[in-house]
Amino acid sequence: MEKRCELCERSDIKLTKHHLIPREEGGTEKDIVMICSDCHRQIHASYSNQELALRLFSIEALKSDEKLKKFIRFIKKQPASKRISIAKSRDRKCK
Ligand SMILES: [Zn+2]
Ligand SMILES: [Zn+2]
Repeated sequence: MEKRCELCERSDIKLTKHHLIPREEGGTEKDIVMICSDCHRQIHASYSNQELALRLFSIEALKSDEKLKKFIRFIKKQPASKRISIAKSRDRKCK
């Protein structure tokens, strides 16, 4: 199966697990999507876990959010091998 980021849709890229609903907000294993680490870092740099749980608990919601839409447009054009530095990353991880 081809590995593809569910957000930016780049393939051949290392994917990480993102909890659409953070565990601390009651998320379960069912709420996991596979996205690349660039998208993942961007999500957590842009939104708090609470915002994610309340508003951005689906791929569609994330994709249509203004902040992320811009990022996706940009990241789509970047080669998967390039390391993108994300401004103001809080480096939050979902566990
Ligand atoms: Zn991505
Ligand atoms: Zn995450």
